[in-house]
Amino acid sequence: LTVLGIETSCDDTAAAVVRSDRTILASNVADQTALHAAFGGVVPEIAARAHTEKLDHAVEAALAASGHALKDLDAIAVTAGPGLIGGVLSGVMLAKGLSAASGVPLVGVNHLAGHALTPRLTDDLAFPYLVLLASGGHCQFLIAHGADRFERLGGTIDDAPGEAFDKTARLLGLPQPGGPSVEAEAAKGDPARFDFPRPLLNRPGCDMSFSGLKTAVLRERDKIVSDKGGLTRQDRSDLAAGFQAAVADVLAEKARRAISAYLDHAPEAPAIAVAGGVAANRTIRAALDRVAADGGLRFVAPPLQLCTDNAAMIAWAGIEALRDGYDTSEPVVARPRWPLDRSQAPMLGSGK
Ligand code: ATP
Ligand code: FE
Repeated sequence: LTVLGIETSCDDTAAAVVRSDRTILASNVADQTALHAAFGGVVPEIAARAHTEKLDHAVEAALAASGHALKDLDAIAVTAGPGLIGGVLSGVMLAKGLSAASGVPLVGVNHLAGHALTPRLTDDLAFPYLVLLASGGHCQFLIAHGADRFERLGGTIDDAPGEAFDKTARLLGLPQPGGPSVEAEAAKGDPARFDFPRPLLNRPGCDMSFSGLKTAVLRERDKIVSDKGGLTRQDRSDLAAGFQAAVADVLAEKARRAISAYLDHAPEAPAIAVAGGVAANRTIRAALDRVAADGGLRFVAPPLQLCTDNAAMIAWAGIEALRDGYDTSEPVVARPRWPLDRSQAPMLGSGK
């Protein structure tokens, strides 16, 4: 199978062509960071308009780079949710038009399934595997039993860690997106100078909380500012390092608990994977790698550029869905909310 993927659910306009032997023939991502910079966050209306302007070109460029004409492809996979609805709609509408014009079938993909299945695009990873999906809007431990079957073990009860990275960056005057800028700043800092909380660690289960952490960063920052009149370079690095260490500790400790729940399923080749933008963080990857090794699990971490939003993961999730019996005669419906867990809603397909 060779599939075109389209991703427009947040602030990245992305198109890719992927083959079922796991070859990424083409993948481009145009981020809108510059457009939203003045607003300190993603503005949905601006994002939707930019997607509409850029997507045609992104798709043409991906097809050209792949060496395939649209009509020769097996499917068009498009993110149908969850995400900013204006952006999701621009992608779905373009995909529907392309599908109608070319006769190539359409697959509606859950963006979170795209993240959670990415480890199988880059690795020989069998179901069931444990995956930590940590991104800008989500944080959950899932057992991936199949392309369309995810069991949620627990997750954040408030902010997502990516959101906490972004807010912390704002508090420290670092550029957006906050993840990479906080990570770079933290590399120069002392993670032990500030004693930031590790919320919910003493509570059983895999639930997490990250909103108190950014409040703690705010409090320490304000204390330094009122004592000394401002932050030095070193203060900023130490705050970033302390924050990042706290996030890594919480994720690692909760991963231990998720692993023990996962091992109850007696998987043949136990593995824990990471996915989502926050999985691009090297300190967090290293912490999870250690936890995996302690538990005797293989650790699977996709390359950084496949952790943050991209369309190769959407094309790949489309391939997985097709191999799993996805019915392309079902109409694709755009949805702002679309939980991965089957107990909450169907994962792939239409609005039935
Ligand atoms: P979702 O997938 O939940 O809908 P999203 O698509 O906006 O949200 P992703 O693109 O998967 O999220 O991830 C973006 C988030 O990842 C941002 O919050 C960003 O700060 C964070 N992030 C990116 N790189 C890093 C990094 N190196 N360290 C920590 N966080 C990171
Ligand atoms: Fe995402």
